[in-house]
Amino acid sequence: MQPPITLGLREERDRLAMSFAEVAVDTPVGHDRTFTYSIPPSLDPRIGQLVRVPFGSRKLQGVVFSLSIDPQVGETCDILGISGNGPVLSDIQLRLARWVSSYYMCSLFDAVALMLPPGGRVRQRTYLVLGNAPTAPELSSLTEPEREMLAYLGRNKRVGEDRLLRAVGRGAKAALRRLEASGHVVRSHRQQGSLVGPKLREYTKLSPEAAAELPDRLKDLKRRAPRQAAVLSRLMKNETPIALAEARKEYGRTAINALLDKGWLQKESAAIDRDPLAGFSFPQAAPVTLTANQKTAGAEVRAALLDLSHTPRTFLMEGVTGSGKTEVYLAAVESCLQLRKKAIVLVPEIALTHQTIERFARRFPGQVAVLHSGLSAGERFDQWWKVQRGECGVVIGSRSAIFAPQKDLGLIVIDEEHEWTYKQHDASPRYHTRDVAARLAELTSSVLVLGSASPDVGSYHEVLGGRSRLLRLPARFFENGDRSTRTAADGGLASVEVVDMRRELREGHRRVFSRSLLREMGRCLENGFQAILFLNRRGSASYMQCRQCGFGLRCRRCDISMVYHRDVDRLRCHYCGDRRIPPPRCPQCRGFRMAYSGMGTKAVVAELSKLYPKEKILRWDRDSAGSPAAHEKLLEQFRSREARVLVGTQMIAKGLHFPSVTLVGVVSADVGLSVPDFRAGERAFQLLSQVAGRSGRGPSEGRVIVQTFQPENYAIKHAAAQDYRHFYDQEIAYRGEQGNPPFSHLIRLLYAHTNSALCEREAKRLSGLLREERDSWGLSDIEILGPTPAHPARLRGHYRWQLVLRGPDPRILLDKATVPQGWVIDVDPVGTA
Ligand code: ADP
Ligand code: ZN
Repeated sequence: MQPPITLGLREERDRLAMSFAEVAVDTPVGHDRTFTYSIPPSLDPRIGQLVRVPFGSRKLQGVVFSLSIDPQVGETCDILGISGNGPVLSDIQLRLARWVSSYYMCSLFDAVALMLPPGGRVRQRTYLVLGNAPTAPELSSLTEPEREMLAYLGRNKRVGEDRLLRAVGRGAKAALRRLEASGHVVRSHRQQGSLVGPKLREYTKLSPEAAAELPDRLKDLKRRAPRQAAVLSRLMKNETPIALAEARKEYGRTAINALLDKGWLQKESAAIDRDPLAGFSFPQAAPVTLTANQKTAGAEVRAALLDLSHTPRTFLMEGVTGSGKTEVYLAAVESCLQLRKKAIVLVPEIALTHQTIERFARRFPGQVAVLHSGLSAGERFDQWWKVQRGECGVVIGSRSAIFAPQKDLGLIVIDEEHEWTYKQHDASPRYHTRDVAARLAELTSSVLVLGSASPDVGSYHEVLGGRSRLLRLPARFFENGDRSTRTAADGGLASVEVVDMRRELREGHRRVFSRSLLREMGRCLENGFQAILFLNRRGSASYMQCRQCGFGLRCRRCDISMVYHRDVDRLRCHYCGDRRIPPPRCPQCRGFRMAYSGMGTKAVVAELSKLYPKEKILRWDRDSAGSPAAHEKLLEQFRSREARVLVGTQMIAKGLHFPSVTLVGVVSADVGLSVPDFRAGERAFQLLSQVAGRSGRGPSEGRVIVQTFQPENYAIKHAAAQDYRHFYDQEIAYRGEQGNPPFSHLIRLLYAHTNSALCEREAKRLSGLLREERDSWGLSDIEILGPTPAHPARLRGHYRWQLVLRGPDPRILLDKATVPQGWVIDVDPVGTA
């Protein structure tokens, strides 16, 4: 074997011979591709380094993917410059970016950008400015929009294209085209600088000359300039540099500046760490004794960590709420750190509360980095670089933390893995964290642990297929033996009562709250406990349901709820496009009680305030708990029992642990079932089990009341019984019958435009084109569903139409037929919005 030093030298020599680089450029042109650039002799770019390259008339950012001796193409341009002093991306990250880019069909740079340090992506912005002034005859022939445009640019100097077009309005596009052609308006490019960087603080210390000369001169100085002498003697005794600002305050600005001028003091600057965990003192966690089930789960994960050939390397931990899944994650992280490997722990954003972070920070003091959207830009910057330097054994964060520069990765944990927020749905790349994590785990031979009380149907399917291993925590953990009998019998979960709202109505009770819910509320508050009432997120959506029999209007072909469009007074299937007139009578019971569902948190709070005028009632939804700080404040008011009733949307039910909550009421379980999506049942089951898991977490028994117009619905029935396995069996059977995931893959193509007719036309054009391509290539196992209006059909002034491709691998079709610019490609879409 050759000694490593020789190898290193040879690599060095090889690298110097490289004269071409393959660069992923920050431009949407082409998925998954790089461009070839030549390397001028003055530059020495590394693989994974950020560079600047010419691209058309612009200068763009890029990342070097590979170096070569021969160019891939005939003519190449030179790389203009390199940023930083070395690669920002590791080999593994480059490979992960390749995968993201090809799987999610985004540009390679968009994939790379997920992994750049905060502020690392520098976009070039294009502005419009006045060019040569029009002559008098030219001036007289200008159109009204052209005049307006020139006047606007005259007033505003440098304007972005969007703003300019909006300011001028009608005819602006044509006017701009003509003015550019005549040179009266020109484009200028500007680099948009990064706004975030390290926070530096200036210090002062003795210079080497001062250290040599001072002892002789200090006496003299003491007489002439006592303040200067005082600083110097302090620094002679104690060499720790003093913060410059502090020194100036203590010894006077004049004294310090004089010493700096004389060269006796010198400045230095050092970065201060903006640490989101600073200022909190976390006492070291007391050691816990794991329960038998927790121990088994922990040991299985440990065995996989120890043995790289152990398969499968993915675990799905199915544990009822409060069963101590987090304790198992902590144990797994500990095993990982003992092996000198590092970990990433992902938690849904909203569950990333102080409670969760604190548990990790206490267990692994000084080793935890936090990455989530609630951090300031500076904190994010510092945390990222700390991780990059290899200083953090554990990164805990939300979705995007999967891209943290954690080296020597050994373990990835995804808590509440079924959560839909793990899918990035509103920006490219539209990645799913679980799938990225699986790929990253594969690249690094890491162990992946997924945890949930109600696993994603796809994740459970993996278990049954042997690609993932099931770990079970079937019972809640209780500190004192109080409820040991219940724990043994039924897992210590709250008891659930399903209230049939049709019957309530039939018997003359038209209130929002059923008699059972009112009775239990009264009992709960009288006994000094707390209650939470949940509503569905889509409180204002319009689905049609019969108030008499509970029948919800669904598409005859797709078996998903139809959505009411007020503008055209029609119901529509958002899957196949079928339309129908809202029926005046219920198709099932022939009654005249069809109504649109929809009830918001505000209305429920108002109703409660009437019933309990003395109670303080907290409203908790996206509006009132939008920021992490507001969220934390609401939780604190509830925790301190300042308020005893909390009304919220189910979206924010994650991971709450309030021992004195003994009642959870689900005001309407139906709305979730009516979402126009084949995953509606799964969604409803997950929300109801989450919600039910909030009750009875303390020593007192918990109750859950679920109000519904469809008590016989399978998702509601199984959720009430807290029976995941039976729910899964039924759900997977439906998926199989309809050929939906996990038995197929979906790709959604979305087009948005301000012009409704144009939007529809484009959608039909592409669907026709794709159908032709499919047939000519004989890709008969790919279905093309639609085009249909997307949900919502209009968003921020843009009409939206969509097409869905379904099949074992619908991507093949998109390799044959290019989707035109302007279409959004969503691979494995989640939800309908
Ligand atoms: P989950 O993550 O499954 O919802 P947690 O890990 O949050 O459950 O556990 C619920 C509560 O029970 C927490 O307060 C936790 O500290 C406690 N707990 C769980 N397991 C143990 C254990 N083995 N020893 C002591 N406390 C435990
Ligand atoms: Zn349909």
